[in-house]
Amino acid sequence: MKKLTILLIILTLVSFGAAGCKEGRQHDNEKRRLRIVTTLFPLFDFAGKVGGERVEVVLLLPPGVEPHDFEPKPKDVVTIQKADLFVYTGRAMEPWVQTILKSIDSKDLVVVDTSKGITLRSADEDHDGHRHGGKGHGPDMNSDPHIWLDFGNAQAMVGTIAEELSKRDPKASDYYARNASAYIDQLRKLDEAYRTGLAGCKTRFFLHGGHYAFNYLAQRYGLTYVSLRGVSPNAEPSPAHLVGMVNKMKQYQVSHIFYEELASPRLAETIARETGANLLPLSPGHNVTTEQMEQRVSFIDIMKTNLTMLQKGLQCK
Ligand SMILES: [Zn+2]
Repeated sequence: MKKLTILLIILTLVSFGAAGCKEGRQHDNEKRRLRIVTTLFPLFDFAGKVGGERVEVVLLLPPGVEPHDFEPKPKDVVTIQKADLFVYTGRAMEPWVQTILKSIDSKDLVVVDTSKGITLRSADEDHDGHRHGGKGHGPDMNSDPHIWLDFGNAQAMVGTIAEELSKRDPKASDYYARNASAYIDQLRKLDEAYRTGLAGCKTRFFLHGGHYAFNYLAQRYGLTYVSLRGVSPNAEPSPAHLVGMVNKMKQYQVSHIFYEELASPRLAETIARETGANLLPLSPGHNVTTEQMEQRVSFIDIMKTNLTMLQKGLQCK
């Protein structure tokens, strides 16, 4: 992170003062909702489902913003400092978290790393041997941070949120456990829908014109996944990788290529033109648009739409 940003953050923290931020907690009572600050949309949705009426959830990422380049501004740090819980994906997705936490003086803040207990997949290379390292992944540069796209992991993440929320608010632990279990049940059904929905497809070659986000999903349902870009959406593919992709498409008679709605579809469009393939949108779910937020689109809604697109693109029965 830039030195100037850190300096700005420290100055802001000093001027706000830790004491002032604790004011709200002095009046902690039954009516006050717990404030949860989350980094990515799946966490925002999970925390809301588990916390229900007892919480107020904030998504740090502004709508439509690509998360891999996100760095918190001083006002975001103040938002985190004022929270009761801060929920993030993990070190591989948000390498800036450790630095920020060092500058926050809030012994009451419960910090939740939802990757706890989850084995991260390597993002080193795909089947073409194309390297997928990218900027913005800090010490876990070679780990694939998109853990929520394995719905078994998503269930574990919901469990972790419920556990940590109960630590902060033990009197409602039964309520959180019930909400978590009901939501985990929905995630199980989603997983089952994917398993049956992707069982009988004409091709299992999943070609993605976006960044390397869907490998957890592909591995869970036995698909061969190749993406045009690396883990970070800004990592441009080499010309050789593009040519390899076009050849693979011809070899496997791939009729559809997927693109990301929040990233530029330029490369996917080029390949589609070259090969005569059709384009289909697919959302990794890190973030949503302002419109989707207003419509209260859920993580499960997004994943159901993805399943429909995958079934179409892979020509499943
Ligand atoms: Zn991503």
